[in-house]
Amino acid sequence: MKIFKSKHKLKEEISNIKNISFVPTMGGLHKGHISLIKKSQNYKGKTLVSIFVNPKQFNEKKDFINYPRNLKKDLKILKHLKVDLIYLPSFKDVFSFQVKNKIFLDKFSKKLCGRSRKDHFKGVLNIVNRFLELIKPKYIFLGIKDFQQSYLISKHILKRKINTKVINCNTIREKNGVACSTRNNNLNKNQFKIASNVIKYLKNKKRLIKKEFFNSKSITIKKDLINLGVTKIDYIEFYNSKTLRQPKSKREKFKIFIAFYLNKTRLIDNI
Ligand code: AMP
Repeated sequence: MKIFKSKHKLKEEISNIKNISFVPTMGGLHKGHISLIKKSQNYKGKTLVSIFVNPKQFNEKKDFINYPRNLKKDLKILKHLKVDLIYLPSFKDVFSFQVKNKIFLDKFSKKLCGRSRKDHFKGVLNIVNRFLELIKPKYIFLGIKDFQQSYLISKHILKRKINTKVINCNTIREKNGVACSTRNNNLNKNQFKIASNVIKYLKNKKRLIKKEFFNSKSITIKKDLINLGVTKIDYIEFYNSKTLRQPKSKREKFKIFIAFYLNKTRLIDNI
C-alpha cells in the first residue's frame, strides 16, 4: 500500500498504470466504503482510494467540523484490504491547480439535497472534477445511497466527455436496516433505533403505496415520522429513478428519497 499526500508524487507513480479503479471517500470508512473497494478490486488494474473531507461541499462550517474522522482506523482497514494506492491530499494540494474542464451542474441538482444544501453539489463536482483530472481513472465507484450525487457526477462526465466509466454500487445496510454512513457515528443508541424504525416504516409504506398507490394515507407520512422521533424532515419525495419524475400509476417503479434530522445529525437514504 502506497500513500501519497502530494499530487505530483501521485501523478509520477500512476503515469505508467493503464487501468485505475478510483474510489473517492471522505474517510470514516465503513462497510459501504469497503464494498465499493472490494468491487473495484475485481476489475483489472490498480485500486486508488482517496480520503479527503472536502470543506467546499459543506454548507455549514459546524457540520464540516463535526464530520467524524478517524484516519488511523481508515488506514488500518485499507491496509487489511491490500489497497494499492491511497491519496490523502491537503486542501492546498488539491485546490491549487487550474482545471481544464468546467463543472457541469445538471438541473437535477436543484432538487432534493440541492434545495436545502446551497452549493453542496457545486462543491462535490469541484473536487470530483479535480480528482478525475489528476488521476484519469478508467472507472469511478460510487454508491447509490447518494443517488443524486452519483447521477450528477455521471452527467458531468458525460457532458465534459471524460474518459471514465461510473460504476454504481448498491447500498450496504446495518442489520437493523439503517444505511451504513460515517454520520451514524454521531448517533446515540436511541437515535440509531429511531433511524431503524424510519427505514422499516418507509419500506412498509412503499409496499402499501405499490398496492394502493397514493391515497390520502400517504399525507400522514411526515406526521408519522415525527411521531417515531424524527427531529425534522428536510424532504421526502417519490421519484421514478429513471425518469426523475413522480410516478403516475401503480405500475410505475419508484423510490422514496428522504433526508431527515435526528437532533443535529442529518441522514439521507433512498428506498
Ligand atoms: P462518503 O465517504 O460518504 O463521501 O462516501 C464515499 C462513497 O461511498 C460514495 O460514493 C458513497 O455513495 C458511498 N457510500 C456511502 N455509504 C454507502 C453505503 N451504505 N453503501 C454503499 N456505498 C456507500
